[in-house]
Amino acid sequence: MSDVRNVIIIGSGPAGYTAALYTARASLKPLVFEGAVTAGGALMNTTDVENFPGFQDGIMGPELMDNMRAQAERFGAELVPDDVVAVDLTGEIKTVTDTAGTVHKAKAVIVTTGSQHRKLGLPNEDALSGRGVSWCATCDGFFFKDQDIAVIGGGDTAMEEATFLSRFAKSVTIVHRRDTLRASKAMQDRAFADPKISFVWDSEVAEVLGDQKLSGLKLRNVKTGELSDLAVTGLFIAIGHDPRTELFKGQLELDDEGYLKVDAPSTRTNVTGVFGAGDVVDHTYRQAITAAGTGCSAALDAERYLAALA
Ligand code: FAD
Repeated sequence: MSDVRNVIIIGSGPAGYTAALYTARASLKPLVFEGAVTAGGALMNTTDVENFPGFQDGIMGPELMDNMRAQAERFGAELVPDDVVAVDLTGEIKTVTDTAGTVHKAKAVIVTTGSQHRKLGLPNEDALSGRGVSWCATCDGFFFKDQDIAVIGGGDTAMEEATFLSRFAKSVTIVHRRDTLRASKAMQDRAFADPKISFVWDSEVAEVLGDQKLSGLKLRNVKTGELSDLAVTGLFIAIGHDPRTELFKGQLELDDEGYLKVDAPSTRTNVTGVFGAGDVVDHTYRQAITAAGTGCSAALDAERYLAALA
């Protein structure tokens, strides 16, 4: 059994690195698969993070993630910048396969693969992320005081983001592809009653405009094809998230939206010895600090599980 690890962690955002830190400090020598191109997780794609406690003046997303990575490594976490392409989690010994086809074994697995925000799929979208384009009003709303903002989407999240943003913004324009909203009646009523919020119906974003910073949007009416300009300095894309759970389908219990189900407040999944943390579980809070918090819980749950096996 010498080639059997105590714990393998899949994913390297705040949840994965925190789980790595805690399991490393518990002398469990975790092996962490960070992901091939996206090591560090969602915060690698942003600029200032002002709401992670402990950084009075804020910190850049990539720097925060480098710090978390180095902290985990300092205590002996083994970090591999590779993707996991297959898992077998059912038995007492779990197996995890990397892109080279090497099979790694462990007694416990912590899943922290995060979730992917849906994108519009437009050329400038990624380039202007953190420069006017955002996917998280809670994270970035404060940067848009007294500015004109567009929110894209017609569901509960879009209404919630818009009503939250209207506290700071000069104006909020909700752009929606249809002429009715998917959001619940209560959320719709709140948005309709807000004097700062207006709607552009039957429209989609044709172009995200700006060079170093967002300067506006070109909108296309989906019924008439007519193009129009919307001058905004903030764009919040609220068209949904996809949890990264493809690998686990058929092995771990997922909810209707594909998120990993855990026995909250623990991080235990339906399979003994497998734990889940961060945004792959959470469709409510989706913050770096909550991901880090549940990453810690998963490490402690795994540690206790392993201690009981011994
Ligand atoms: P993630 O950070 O998504 O990390 C998951 C990791 O798992 C990724 O590295 C991915 O590559 C890896 N992975 C996935 N599948 C595999 C696989 N098969 N094999 C190996 N690795 C895999 N939150 C805040 O609190 N404050 C902010 O200011 C803030 N700003 C944000 C700005 C942007 C642009 C975005 C997108 C999000 C922001 N958030 C912010 C939200 C925050 O980033 C997330 O809540 C947090 O990163 C979730 O952490 P996580 O560890 O669960 O997942």
